[in-house]
Amino acid sequence: MSVFDRGFLFADAVYEVTAVIEGALVDFDAHQRRLERSLGELGIEFDGSAVDLRAIHRELLARNQLDEGLIYLQLTRGCADRSFVRPETATPSLVLFTQSMSLIDHADARRGLRVVTRPDLRWHRRDIKTTQLLYPSLMKSEAVAAGVDDVWMTEGGYVTEASSSNAHILTTDGRLITRPLSNDILHGITRAAVLEYARESGVTVEERPFTPAEALTAKEAFNTSATAFVTPVIELDGQAIGEGQPGEATARLRELYIDQSRARLTR
Ligand code: PMP
Repeated sequence: MSVFDRGFLFADAVYEVTAVIEGALVDFDAHQRRLERSLGELGIEFDGSAVDLRAIHRELLARNQLDEGLIYLQLTRGCADRSFVRPETATPSLVLFTQSMSLIDHADARRGLRVVTRPDLRWHRRDIKTTQLLYPSLMKSEAVAAGVDDVWMTEGGYVTEASSSNAHILTTDGRLITRPLSNDILHGITRAAVLEYARESGVTVEERPFTPAEALTAKEAFNTSATAFVTPVIELDGQAIGEGQPGEATARLRELYIDQSRARLTR
């Protein structure tokens, strides 16, 4: 890629990470819709009808013989002389790669995550999936260096999301509490699917912000993302959530998500 690519110089780029199980794509259509929305919000002109992204995904999976893992896609605005004024015309750069890894059988799901709260100092268009990932990367690195697994970022006293996943709690009477969609969080594809499947299975979902203090009164907590699916969160700022170990309701939601995803794979 050119050093003049605006993805490199300005993080003027959007991306998607799609899970792969059984050699096929999870929630592919929803990832494509979010990609189109991100491109639209940034005014990056990419003619999706001229490029068959599904065919490219399939070909890459086949060439790399990927059975389980992820496929990463990045689209930048393209190349131009370095200037803060974006070019009127540029040809977007498209890059994809795969990573083989075990997603379904994962140690985090068995052990649960310990998280710490940190202020959310990211920009205020977190709904656009740009490659500006420095702050959450620094926060997660600090958390890991301090011996825990991740951060839950907070703003105005409420949890926004984790470094690279959406955050949720389950109350003692079984309700699922999750922050509503806005510019404050990424509109997680896994979040949307889990909420749909949870509602279908009779779980009451309340989309409202929650505080770290409320999370500490919860029965269970979990993160969602394309590659982590549903992963239990067992500790917040050194204090146990619920029993301080992965709980049954979270395990059920993880299983439900995996089963439903398997039934809807894009091959
Ligand atoms: N929030 C943030 C900040 C993220 O980076 C991600 C994953 N990219 C998510 C939430 C989860 O989104 P998804 O379920 O679409 O992977």
